[in-house]
Amino acid sequence: ALNVGVLALQGDVREHVAALEAAGARGVGVRRLAELEAVDGLVIPGGESTTIDKLLQIFGLADPLRAMIKEGLPVYGSCAGMILLADRIVGGTADQRTLGGMDVVVRRNAFGRQVDSFETDLEMAGVSGGAAGEGALLRTAFIRAPWIEEAGPDVEVLARIPAVDTAGRELAAAGKIVAARQGSLLATAFHPEITGDARVHALFVGIVAGDDGGRSAG
Ligand code: GLN
Repeated sequence: ALNVGVLALQGDVREHVAALEAAGARGVGVRRLAELEAVDGLVIPGGESTTIDKLLQIFGLADPLRAMIKEGLPVYGSCAGMILLADRIVGGTADQRTLGGMDVVVRRNAFGRQVDSFETDLEMAGVSGGAAGEGALLRTAFIRAPWIEEAGPDVEVLARIPAVDTAGRELAAAGKIVAARQGSLLATAFHPEITGDARVHALFVGIVAGDDGGRSAG
Protein backbone atom coordinates (compact mmCIF):
# COMPACT_ATOMS: atom_id res chain seq x y z
CA ALA A 1 0.00 0.00 0.00
CA LEU A 2 0.99 3.61 -0.40
CA ASN A 3 2.44 5.36 2.63
CA VAL A 4 0.51 8.54 3.21
CA GLY A 5 1.75 10.71 6.04
CA VAL A 6 -0.35 12.87 8.31
CA LEU A 7 1.53 15.86 9.67
CA ALA A 8 1.32 15.18 13.41
CA LEU A 9 2.22 18.54 14.94
CA GLN A 10 -1.37 19.59 15.77
CA GLY A 11 -4.91 18.59 14.83
CA ASP A 12 -6.94 15.41 14.56
CA VAL A 13 -4.22 13.13 13.24
CA ARG A 14 -5.94 9.89 14.25
CA GLU A 15 -9.11 10.65 12.27
CA HIS A 16 -7.07 11.37 9.15
CA VAL A 17 -5.08 8.16 9.57
CA ALA A 18 -8.36 6.22 9.88
CA ALA A 19 -9.81 7.87 6.78
CA LEU A 20 -6.64 7.12 4.78
CA GLU A 21 -6.78 3.48 5.86
CA ALA A 22 -10.45 3.32 4.86
CA ALA A 23 -9.30 4.63 1.47
CA GLY A 24 -6.78 1.78 1.14
CA ALA A 25 -3.53 3.55 2.04
CA ARG A 26 -1.21 3.13 5.00
CA GLY A 27 -1.56 6.22 7.19
CA VAL A 28 1.46 7.26 9.22
CA GLY A 29 2.06 10.16 11.59
CA VAL A 30 4.87 12.50 10.48
CA ARG A 31 6.82 14.60 12.96
CA ARG A 32 10.44 14.24 11.87
CA LEU A 33 12.29 14.85 8.65
CA ALA A 34 13.15 11.17 8.20
CA GLU A 35 9.45 10.32 8.47
CA LEU A 36 8.54 13.04 5.97
CA GLU A 37 11.12 11.76 3.49
CA ALA A 38 9.59 8.26 3.63
CA VAL A 39 6.04 9.13 2.57
CA ASP A 40 4.43 9.08 -0.89
CA GLY A 41 2.01 11.86 0.02
CA LEU A 42 1.11 14.02 3.01
CA VAL A 43 -2.06 15.25 4.70
CA ILE A 44 -1.90 18.55 6.61
CA PRO A 45 -4.80 18.50 9.10
CA GLY A 46 -6.82 21.37 10.48
CA GLY A 47 -5.82 23.18 13.63
CA GLU A 48 -4.39 26.67 13.90
CA SER A 49 -2.34 27.62 10.86
CA THR A 50 -0.19 30.08 12.84
CA THR A 51 0.69 27.33 15.35
CA ILE A 52 1.39 24.74 12.66
CA ASP A 53 3.59 27.31 10.88
CA LYS A 54 5.63 27.84 14.07
CA LEU A 55 5.86 24.11 14.81
CA LEU A 56 7.01 23.41 11.22
CA GLN A 57 9.92 25.80 11.82
CA ILE A 58 10.74 24.35 15.25
CA PHE A 59 10.71 20.77 13.95
CA GLY A 60 12.86 21.76 10.96
CA LEU A 61 10.21 20.65 8.49
CA ALA A 62 9.19 23.95 6.87
CA ASP A 63 11.99 24.35 4.31
CA PRO A 64 12.26 20.65 3.38
CA LEU A 65 8.49 20.38 2.97
CA ARG A 66 8.37 23.55 0.88
CA ALA A 67 11.02 22.06 -1.40
CA MET A 68 9.26 18.68 -1.59
CA ILE A 69 6.02 20.41 -2.59
CA LYS A 70 7.89 22.19 -5.40
CA GLU A 71 9.26 18.83 -6.53
CA GLY A 72 5.74 17.39 -6.75
CA LEU A 73 5.00 15.71 -3.41
CA PRO A 74 1.20 15.21 -3.33
CA VAL A 75 -0.24 17.10 -0.38
CA TYR A 76 -3.81 17.38 0.86
CA GLY A 77 -4.50 20.32 3.18
CA SER A 78 -7.73 20.54 5.20
CA CYS A 79 -8.76 23.86 6.75
CA ALA A 80 -5.56 25.15 8.40
CA GLY A 81 -3.81 22.83 5.92
CA MET A 82 -5.49 24.70 3.07
CA ILE A 83 -4.13 27.97 4.47
CA LEU A 84 -0.62 26.47 4.58
CA LEU A 85 -0.81 25.40 0.92
CA ALA A 86 -1.83 28.87 -0.29
CA ASP A 87 0.69 31.09 -2.06
CA ARG A 88 -1.04 34.14 -0.54
CA ILE A 89 -3.32 34.67 2.47
CA VAL A 90 -5.44 37.49 3.81
CA GLY A 91 -6.43 37.77 7.46
CA GLY A 92 -3.23 36.11 8.66
CA THR A 93 -1.03 37.42 11.46
CA ALA A 94 1.77 39.83 10.49
CA ASP A 95 4.56 37.25 10.61
CA GLN A 96 2.55 34.26 9.40
CA ARG A 97 4.16 32.24 6.60
CA THR A 98 2.72 29.54 4.42
CA LEU A 99 4.35 26.65 2.62
CA GLY A 100 2.68 27.69 -0.62
CA GLY A 101 2.32 25.71 -3.81
CA MET A 102 -1.23 26.60 -4.80
CA ASP A 103 -1.82 29.74 -6.83
CA VAL A 104 -4.66 30.95 -4.62
CA VAL A 105 -5.51 33.71 -2.19
CA VAL A 106 -7.01 32.17 0.95
CA ARG A 107 -8.92 34.19 3.51
CA ARG A 108 -8.45 32.97 7.09
CA ASN A 109 -11.48 32.77 9.39
CA ALA A 110 -13.55 33.84 6.41
CA PHE A 111 -17.03 32.94 7.66
CA GLY A 112 -18.63 35.48 9.97
CA ARG A 113 -19.31 34.84 13.65
CA GLN A 114 -22.87 33.66 13.03
CA VAL A 115 -21.64 30.75 10.95
CA ASP A 116 -18.33 30.21 12.72
CA SER A 117 -18.99 26.49 12.53
CA PHE A 118 -21.61 24.71 10.49
CA GLU A 119 -22.29 21.58 8.49
CA THR A 120 -23.59 21.40 4.98
CA ASP A 121 -23.98 18.87 2.19
CA LEU A 122 -22.18 19.84 -0.94
CA GLU A 123 -21.24 18.57 -4.34
CA MET A 124 -17.55 18.03 -4.95
CA ALA A 125 -15.97 17.28 -8.31
CA GLY A 126 -14.01 14.03 -8.23
CA VAL A 127 -16.20 12.69 -5.42
CA SER A 128 -19.12 10.78 -6.82
CA GLY A 129 -21.72 8.40 -5.46
CA GLY A 130 -20.23 6.57 -2.53
CA ALA A 131 -20.71 3.01 -1.33
CA ALA A 132 -23.40 1.74 1.04
CA GLY A 133 -26.10 4.27 0.43
CA GLU A 134 -23.94 7.36 0.52
CA GLY A 135 -25.26 9.92 -1.91
CA ALA A 136 -23.22 11.96 -4.32
CA LEU A 137 -23.34 14.83 -1.85
CA LEU A 138 -20.67 15.08 0.77
CA ARG A 139 -21.50 15.96 4.38
CA THR A 140 -18.94 18.57 5.38
CA ALA A 141 -18.01 20.33 8.61
CA PHE A 142 -16.62 23.87 8.64
CA ILE A 143 -14.86 25.02 11.81
CA ARG A 144 -13.55 28.60 11.77
CA ALA A 145 -12.78 27.77 8.20
CA PRO A 146 -11.04 29.70 5.44
CA TRP A 147 -12.25 30.03 1.87
CA ILE A 148 -10.45 30.57 -1.41
CA GLU A 149 -10.94 34.13 -2.48
CA GLU A 150 -9.06 34.03 -5.76
CA ALA A 151 -7.80 31.10 -7.81
CA GLY A 152 -5.20 31.24 -10.59
CA PRO A 153 -5.69 29.69 -14.05
CA ASP A 154 -4.07 26.34 -13.14
CA VAL A 155 -6.35 25.81 -10.17
CA GLU A 156 -9.33 23.53 -10.61
CA VAL A 157 -12.31 24.53 -8.47
CA LEU A 158 -13.84 21.37 -6.98
CA ALA A 159 -16.54 22.69 -4.64
CA ARG A 160 -18.37 25.82 -3.62
CA ILE A 161 -20.59 26.65 -0.65
CA PRO A 162 -24.19 25.71 -1.45
CA ALA A 163 -27.24 27.86 -0.79
CA VAL A 164 -28.24 26.33 2.57
CA ASP A 165 -26.76 24.41 5.50
CA THR A 166 -28.00 21.02 6.74
CA ALA A 167 -30.61 22.78 8.91
CA GLY A 168 -31.96 24.59 5.86
CA ARG A 169 -30.59 27.99 6.87
CA GLU A 170 -29.39 30.19 4.05
CA LEU A 171 -25.64 30.53 3.81
CA ALA A 172 -24.44 34.05 3.09
CA ALA A 173 -21.20 32.59 1.75
CA ALA A 174 -23.00 30.66 -1.01
CA GLY A 175 -20.76 30.33 -4.06
CA LYS A 176 -17.44 30.69 -2.21
CA ILE A 177 -14.75 28.23 -3.27
CA VAL A 178 -14.08 25.64 -0.56
CA ALA A 179 -12.26 22.85 -2.40
CA ALA A 180 -9.67 23.03 -5.13
CA ARG A 181 -6.85 21.20 -6.79
CA GLN A 182 -3.69 22.22 -8.55
CA GLY A 183 -1.64 19.33 -9.94
CA SER A 184 -0.99 16.98 -7.03
CA LEU A 185 -2.08 19.51 -4.41
CA LEU A 186 -5.59 19.19 -2.98
CA ALA A 187 -7.22 21.56 -0.49
CA THR A 188 -10.55 21.67 1.31
CA ALA A 189 -11.78 24.36 3.69
CA PHE A 190 -13.78 21.68 5.51
CA HIS A 191 -12.93 18.62 7.62
CA PRO A 192 -14.02 15.43 5.84
CA GLU A 193 -12.28 13.31 8.49
CA ILE A 194 -14.86 14.11 11.16
CA THR A 195 -17.99 13.28 9.19
CA GLY A 196 -17.08 9.63 8.60
CA ASP A 197 -16.89 9.79 4.81
CA ALA A 198 -13.55 8.73 3.32
CA ARG A 199 -14.25 9.81 -0.27
CA VAL A 200 -12.10 12.94 -0.16
CA HIS A 201 -9.24 10.84 1.22
CA ALA A 202 -9.92 8.30 -1.54
CA LEU A 203 -9.62 11.10 -4.11
CA PHE A 204 -6.30 12.10 -2.55
CA VAL A 205 -5.01 8.52 -2.40
CA GLY A 206 -5.85 8.32 -6.13
CA ILE A 207 -3.76 11.45 -6.74
CA VAL A 208 -0.89 9.92 -4.73
CA ALA A 209 -1.22 6.69 -6.75
CA GLY A 210 -1.15 8.72 -9.96
CA ASP A 211 -4.27 7.02 -11.30
CA ASP A 212 -6.09 10.14 -12.36
CA GLY A 213 -5.23 10.28 -16.05
CA GLY A 214 -1.88 11.97 -15.44
CA ARG A 215 -3.44 15.27 -14.42
CA SER A 216 -1.17 15.48 -11.40
CA ALA A 217 1.77 15.98 -13.77
CA GLY A 218 0.50 19.52 -14.39
N1 GLN B 1 -9.02 29.19 11.88
C1 GLN B 1 -7.92 28.24 11.74
C2 GLN B 1 -6.69 28.93 11.16
O1 GLN B 1 -6.75 30.05 10.79
C3 GLN B 1 -8.31 27.07 10.90
C4 GLN B 1 -9.39 26.30 11.58
C5 GLN B 1 -9.34 24.82 11.34
O2 GLN B 1 -8.36 24.28 10.85
N2 GLN B 1 -10.40 24.15 11.74
O3 GLN B 1 -5.67 28.34 11.07
